[in-house]
Amino acid sequence: MSALTVHDLTKAFGATRVLTGVSLHVPQGGFTALLGPSGCGKTTLLRLIAGFDDPDSGTVLLGDRVVAGAGRGVPARRRGIGFVPQEGGLFPHLTVAENVTFGLPRRRRRDRARVAGLLDLVGLDAGLADRAPHQLSGGQQQRVALARALAPEPSLVLLDEPFSSLDAALREETRAAVAAALSAAGATAVLVTHDQAEALSMADQVAVLRGGRLVQLTDPRTLYRLPGDLDVATFVGEAVVLDAEVRDGRAHCALGVLPLGRDCPDGRARVLLRPEQLRLSAPEPTAPSARVRGIDFYGHDSRVWLDLPGGLAVSARLEGADLPAEGDDVSIAVLGTALPFPSGPRPARQDDRPPPRPVADVHLESPVAAPAGPAAG
Ligand code: ATP
Repeated sequence: MSALTVHDLTKAFGATRVLTGVSLHVPQGGFTALLGPSGCGKTTLLRLIAGFDDPDSGTVLLGDRVVAGAGRGVPARRRGIGFVPQEGGLFPHLTVAENVTFGLPRRRRRDRARVAGLLDLVGLDAGLADRAPHQLSGGQQQRVALARALAPEPSLVLLDEPFSSLDAALREETRAAVAAALSAAGATAVLVTHDQAEALSMADQVAVLRGGRLVQLTDPRTLYRLPGDLDVATFVGEAVVLDAEVRDGRAHCALGVLPLGRDCPDGRARVLLRPEQLRLSAPEPTAPSARVRGIDFYGHDSRVWLDLPGGLAVSARLEGADLPAEGDDVSIAVLGTALPFPSGPRPARQDDRPPPRPVADVHLESPVAAPAGPAAG
């Protein structure tokens, strides 16, 4: 396996600029997710790395070998890259074993032990080797597609939204199996996804693309805790964003006086909290208060929609069964610190973000994960 280095990559289709100056490095054995809203250029970047398209400028290196740019254009089939497409792309008329060994030299195709080893690597029973693809579940088909991509011992594995057609339960299970297989194979991998939970849970590095530019490249925890701007913050998770006045290192806002997660000059700012930082209790006269407008119950946790005095709305994520009821008055305590940002325009709407709720002035919900809350009333 090789490291991948993309340097200053630019691509336009006709007059439409799709990628601008994208640079990133995936270390050997690293797993990077390309995350961004629909149309931001993720697939285009993957295709340039794979060699299905040529960049207008910039370079792609596998290890220290230039495969695109700088006057070179190594054809896709000579790059030694394994590709797992959205729907698996298995040949329907071939068995699982034949699919896995497709593209290998003839003598290696007869190696049943190797097929069994690859199926084992992706968490499938060797007994499936003689089945046709239509006799497998969607998740099993994606694992076979990964086994096929890994069979020739590629320098890099690219995965293009490989879980998008699977239902929720199968998606979780298949993600885990794929991540384990890539790790066991020591594969260098790049995953395209617009699902932030997938990117945060699977990858060791996340590259956030917006409008064809790389806006942040970091590990999942840092991305969630220290997003580069409020657009990234709201894209990678649910967010509570409040106007604040910073004085002496503390934010004065609708949820009280909060310690800051990093330095910020005195003056107007906007602060970010995550809904799981909000804790609710019986009303106390000295604490910020709110009225429960609605509850989305998910079993493992719940989202509680809260109206603050003055018409602001926020949401809290609560674990456990001890939930307030709709219409209850509660007090809000904030755990941890608030992350300050310069007081600029409100985060731009992402392409696939649902329309703002009428009271969503301060609560910007995740464009992917958060369904719309209950109507105000
Ligand atoms: P999605 O998540 O919806 O797949 P994406 O982030 O992968 O989106 P791309 O598929 O890379 O986005 O597309 C980025 C932009 O480039 C889009 O506006 C798309 O219409 C345009 N585009 C992609 N391929 C071509 C092409 N071959 N010719 C013209 N425009 C293209």
